[in-house]
Order: sequence, then structure tokens, then C-alpha cells
Amino acid sequence: MAKHYSEKNADLKFLKGKKIVILGYGSQGHGQALNLRDSGLNVTVSVRKGGRGYNLALKHGWQEGKNLFTNNKEAVKGADWVHFLLPDETQKEVWENDVLPNFKKGAVMGFSHGFNIRYNQIVPPKEADVILVAPKGPGHLVRRTYEEGKGTPALVAIEQNYSKKALQLALAYCKGIGATRAGVIETTFSEETETDNFGEQCVLCGGVVDLIKAGFETLVEAGYQPEIAYFECLHELKLITDLIQEGGISWMNYSISDTAEYGEYSRGPRLVNEKTKEEMRKILGEIRSGQFAKEYLLENKVGRPVFNSSRKNLENHPIEKVGAELRAMMPWLKKKE
Ligand code: NDP
Ligand code: MG
Repeated sequence: MAKHYSEKNADLKFLKGKKIVILGYGSQGHGQALNLRDSGLNVTVSVRKGGRGYNLALKHGWQEGKNLFTNNKEAVKGADWVHFLLPDETQKEVWENDVLPNFKKGAVMGFSHGFNIRYNQIVPPKEADVILVAPKGPGHLVRRTYEEGKGTPALVAIEQNYSKKALQLALAYCKGIGATRAGVIETTFSEETETDNFGEQCVLCGGVVDLIKAGFETLVEAGYQPEIAYFECLHELKLITDLIQEGGISWMNYSISDTAEYGEYSRGPRLVNEKTKEEMRKILGEIRSGQFAKEYLLENKVGRPVFNSSRKNLENHPIEKVGAELRAMMPWLKKKE
């Protein structure tokens, strides 16, 4: 098994009293900051005045001027660990303008995704530890599982080990956010970035979303009711993936009918086949060569034309309309902040 760590390998003492600054209070920012605080560590969060994260941070009891700052430059002064939980495309600018001029020699630059280091957007000074702690789940689950006494697994990687204590520091951080309760696997910035982007492009986000839409469209175009198509192609997906996550694919197959299982074996490979894998390998190649990174950074530079129009198109897709109506019948499915 890959190099891995659990509770017994991690000691919070490496971070006791150290000033940890979390930049950003979005999905990961709020989850990680609250968990670290509840683990008894000295945490400061830095947010944009009046933004969504700012309002949420106030609601979560962070105190302005004490452990809540609306100025990155002020926030990072004297920090022992600066953790970047800003959108990947804004980290370079914040690093250059706000953090670097105020960065304490030998402190930690922490990331939860390797993108900016892997693609040389951020070039760290020699006198810094460069650490990746990447939870393998969205921020609200990082928080919820911690509160339940469980945790979200994470990856760690060390790019620079100036202090000669980077791994102990990284594992202490993992313990602080609850990740060592679930298991921590060692990786590199490159492996994390490339596999993370591949996973979201080919399976988890791209991949699954287009599969759902294609299934829904096929049924509706054939004259079936959109409500039925929604249940079959979207709603039930969670029940299936929950079972797969819990016990693997065979475990899921055990729960479904034999008719469904036979359909899976005989029809699945007709949809996802050697041609699909060929395209996956192409996509992986674009990630590894930096072509995807370049495309995404350019897209942001020119005001996100593709991103914004794709988002609009999706909002107008019939599956989103019928989905909103059906979910209104299941009030417990309410979207949470
Ligand atoms: P979000 O978009 O959810 O949150 C970003 C936060 O940064 C917001 O609080 C936003 O402020 C703030 N922000 C944006 N621009 C600036 C700026 N210029 N100065 C200060 N604050 C700013 O990000 P995520 O949590 O999704 O992502 C953070 C990092 O975590 C990324 O590296 C991502 O790849 C990684 N990651 C994310 C996962 C996820 O599940 N989302 C999973 C694993 C890793 P405001 O609230 O005011 O808008
Ligand atoms: Mg991921």
C-alpha cells in the first residue's frame, strides 16, 4: 500500500501556538479553519470585506481585528503557516502582492491543490516549507465529518522542506482538520494536481454530468416524461454511488436487482469503451503538458467567456428546470450554505 499515515503518526504539538493563517473562507476555507480552531490551534482567517466568506466568518464567531482580517497583508504578518484557500486562478496575484512582501522567513506555504506550484504560477522562496494538504472531499464535508467525530481523507506532499520538519508539520495540520482520522496518503504536488484534474474532467464532473444529461435527453427525446427521466438518470445516482463508496462496486451490485447487474455487464462497456479511454488519455496528456492549465488561466484573463456561457446554458437545461420542481417536493434536500 502507498505510504500512509493515521492518528498515531500525527502530533498537534508541532503546530501548538503557531500562527496559522487561512486565506479565503469559501468551501475549503471555512471547513479547514473551523476544524483547526476546534482542534485548539491558533487560527486567523483572511477574507474580503463584505463578501460571502466575510459574512459567514462573522456568523461562525471569528472576530474582526483578532482572528478575522479583511486585509491579506495584515493577516499574514508574523504567520508561521499561510494556507491558500483562494480560487486557484487568484492565488498567484495574492501571493505576489500581499503574502510575499510580508512572508516570514522559514514559514510554511500551504496549499490544498498543487496547481499553482505544479504549473509554476507561484515560485516559492528557498526559505519556506511548501506543503500540500488536500482533503479528498468538498469543504462542507470536511467540516461535517469532523463534527461527527469522523474525518475526510487527505493527501500530503512536501515540495520544499526548509525546516526539516515539513512532514511533521503537514501531519499535524492533517490531524487538526480531522484528516488523519480517515487516513492520509503521501503524494507529490505533480501527482495530486494531475490526478485531481483528470478525475474532475473525466469522471467526477466532466464524465458523470454529461452521462446524466445524455441519458435524460435520450429518454425525453423518445417521448418519456422528464420527471421520470430525472429520477432514473439523476436522482438515483447518489444511492448508487453511496453504495459504491461504502463497499465497492460488487457491494453495490449485490444491492441492485440481477436484471440491473446484467444490464451493467452487458451494456456498460458499449458506452465506455476503448474509444472513451483513448479520449481520456488525450485529456490526461493535455493536463500533463500544461495545455489545460494554460487554457484555464487564459480563460480567466479574458473574463471567462466559455466558462460563463457554459454555466448559463446549463442553468437553462430542462434537467435543471424539472429538477428544481421535483426537489421542491423533497424539502429535506434543501441546498445549504
Ligand atoms: P471557493 O471559491 O469556495 O472560496 C474561495 C474564497 O476565496 C472565498 O472566500 C472568496 O471570497 C475568497 N477570495 C477570492 N478571491 C480573493 C482575493 N483576491 N482575496 C481574498 N479572498 C479571495 O474556493 P475553494 O474552497 O473551492 O478552493 C480553495 C482551494 O482549495 C483551491 O486551491 C481548490 O483547488 C482547493 N480544493 C477545493 C476543493 C473543494 O471541494 N472545493 C477540494 C480540494 C481542494 P468571497 O467569499 O468573498 O467570495
Ligand atoms: Mg479532486
